[in-house]
Amino acid sequence: MRNYYIAGNWKMHKTRSEAAELAKALVAQLKDGKHKYLVAPTFTSLETVGAIVKGSNILLGAQNCAPEEQGAHTGEVSVLQLKDLGVQAVILGHSERRHIYKEDDEFINKKVKLALKHGLEVILCVGELLEEREAGRAEAVCETQTVKGLAGVAAGDLGRITIAYEPVWAIGTGKTATPEDADAIHAYIRKVVGKLYGADAAQKIIIQYGGSVKPENAAQLMAKENIDGALVGGAALKADTFVPIAKFG
Ligand code: PEP
Repeated sequence: MRNYYIAGNWKMHKTRSEAAELAKALVAQLKDGKHKYLVAPTFTSLETVGAIVKGSNILLGAQNCAPEEQGAHTGEVSVLQLKDLGVQAVILGHSERRHIYKEDDEFINKKVKLALKHGLEVILCVGELLEEREAGRAEAVCETQTVKGLAGVAAGDLGRITIAYEPVWAIGTGKTATPEDADAIHAYIRKVVGKLYGADAAQKIIIQYGGSVKPENAAQLMAKENIDGALVGGAALKADTFVPIAKFG
């Protein structure tokens, strides 16, 4: 039996005081929540939000990290610096990193391994572009991103990996994959994990769906066999929309 895992990616939104206000509301309103929760504020709000969620049932996540521990990497943030702030998990391979900042699978894989090495959990995002879906390549794209993203990850570390299937055409667009379409890709990703790590690992791995998840569609998505939670962008920016998703059903 897999636990549901609902994560909020706040992207490049909110000042520290705005982030603090949202974090306080979530701590209060999710304290009786039954699932696993995470919020990922911007780097500049991590310390503030970390102090608020500490001791609650909400994990502190970062939206990215550098592929190296330290050094001459202007503008980057190290996994060591994230750990120092109490960060417990990091989102890697988000489509905005892949497509705006041109991060490729090898680069993302370096970060995945580094984050795991330092004890963090990882949410590894995969997902196809609209033209790739229309060309019938959605499964192949997700397979490549999963296989290359997990390259060199030991079976013993897989428990700290969550995969987020985020079709790029559904992110921030208001278009959601149908629960059936999403479930089919989730099942395929689970099969890919099974080929890499065996059937037991495939059954255990948490696969979130991301792409215009809202209070109105969360329960239908989560009812699908292979959908184990959500990575939420826009609707994570307000307690009024994130809490009903986090407490779906
Ligand atoms: C995301 O960016 O991870 C995301 C799923 O965004 P949205 O919910 O706004 O589509």
